[in-house]
Amino acid sequence: MLIDLQSIDENGKDYNFDELSDELVGAFNDLVGEAPFKVQLHVQPMGNTYLVNGSVHSEYSAVCSKCGYDVDLPLDNKINEIVVIEKERPRNTQVSQSQQNFDASSPAVTYVNSSTFDLREFLHEMMASGFSLYPKCTDETLCDSRQHKDVLIAAPEEKRGHPGFAALKDLKVSKH
Ligand SMILES: [Zn+2]
Repeated sequence: MLIDLQSIDENGKDYNFDELSDELVGAFNDLVGEAPFKVQLHVQPMGNTYLVNGSVHSEYSAVCSKCGYDVDLPLDNKINEIVVIEKERPRNTQVSQSQQNFDASSPAVTYVNSSTFDLREFLHEMMASGFSLYPKCTDETLCDSRQHKDVLIAAPEEKRGHPGFAALKDLKVSKH
């Protein structure tokens, strides 16, 4: 889905999409499968620079990094991006130079070489970066109980350990 950034007037433009929008049918299948999604965007021109603000929302499947169970997690990512049209870079196609600062709240910068902007690709990237590096259950109690279950299974092993361990424990107790 290509948009011409230069066609956007000084008032900016709003974009709203969901899984029923023709423009984005199947756009995130590789990320969120058939899950519903919502995309809200506002593009505000400032000369050759465009502020892109908004959010993407969906749901994805992951493996909990704590208990190892499969979990469905909400995907919420804020979009806070500056798109700069730089015609001097002829070889480079869109994107991938998103330069995330240390301060996550400050906008990332994307350079493009023409005013034609691939919104579908951009949103795909925004959706992908909403994935957690350390996914975990939204229900902490449930997650804890799942972890606890693993401990219980592991416990008998410990009892069969070398008797020397018991002596070590005693040492710790008598320590001043
Ligand atoms: Zn968990």
